[in-house]
Amino acid sequence: MSIISHVSGGFAPGGNPRVSFEVFPARSTMQSDGMAELARVMRKYDPVFASVTYGAGGTSHQASFGTVGQLLGVDGLDVVGHLTCAGQSRAQTDAVIERYAAQGVKGILALRGDMPGISGPYQPHPDGYENGADLATAVINRGSLDTYVAAYPEVHPASGSGHACIANLKTKLATGAKAAITQFFFDNRDYFHFMEQVRAAGIYQPVVPGILLIHDFAKVASFAGKCKARIPDHLHAAFDGLAPHSTRHKALACELAAQQIMQLGAQGVDHVHIYSMNRPDLVDQTCGLAGIAQITEMAGAM
Ligand code: FAD
Repeated sequence: MSIISHVSGGFAPGGNPRVSFEVFPARSTMQSDGMAELARVMRKYDPVFASVTYGAGGTSHQASFGTVGQLLGVDGLDVVGHLTCAGQSRAQTDAVIERYAAQGVKGILALRGDMPGISGPYQPHPDGYENGADLATAVINRGSLDTYVAAYPEVHPASGSGHACIANLKTKLATGAKAAITQFFFDNRDYFHFMEQVRAAGIYQPVVPGILLIHDFAKVASFAGKCKARIPDHLHAAFDGLAPHSTRHKALACELAAQQIMQLGAQGVDHVHIYSMNRPDLVDQTCGLAGIAQITEMAGAM
């Protein structure tokens, strides 16, 4: 029996979940062309939304706006813009909220962000929003935009303890945010264990699990280390010696992600967020294997 299906909001009796996708902004004409293909594939799976990342500390903002605009040009695709407040004044951050709203985004994923190249304890900008919760409040107070926040099944590195991390998530969702989206994880038991604690803490909004497509195992392992996302030993063994662009690497990545998605669906999760790594081939194969419903041509044309 499902551990979590009895909780309303974000869970339904077992079945194929709906998906949303996360993309990095395109930074060149060639990447924009690739984005068009990615958008076509994502659209096929009728996503809840596509979200576009945003570089904390002033990097790649124009590219994010460009990609948000490009995706908004795809008929029927809702777009969520990520927004970080690290290193930015309130006025600078508010200007981005207004810019996203003017572009026509459906929502904003409100994030604290990290300051690139700065180590040690996090320091908010003296005139800026304090953190994800403070920024979520600003987006909600503005009105008309869905607001999302981030969650960490394996504990945010700065939180100190699982208890503190869940208390922070509770604060963020108490702002009235619509849902949380999790950091990626590779063992669904970590998510289910986290969700038991989340529900026990009296948090009832959806907490959408994030599934990463392993486009390049070595790169993913290095990044996961920084995020404190555990890579189970069997994954190290499975990818050992495989070149990132080999057929076997790709097939394995898709099989693993599809398995995670199907297990989550079987446990009653009705929405999964896929970190696409801007790879339409991996998105298509994974969603196909996981049985994600596709829009028929006729429905797409309506
Ligand atoms: P918060 O929930 O605000 O805080 C996380 C922890 O930091 C808290 O538990 C607390 O321990 C500590 N903290 C918070 N505020 C303070 C403070 N004022 N002083 C001291 N400590 C404090 N990053 C990007 O740059 N761009 C993106 O597009 C992006 N997208 C993401 C999408 C998802 C789904 C996820 C899960 C993460 C994403 N990130 C992104 C990474 C994110 O910015 C970092 O994980 C960041 O360190 C925390 O952001 P947050 O909003 O979760 O922080």
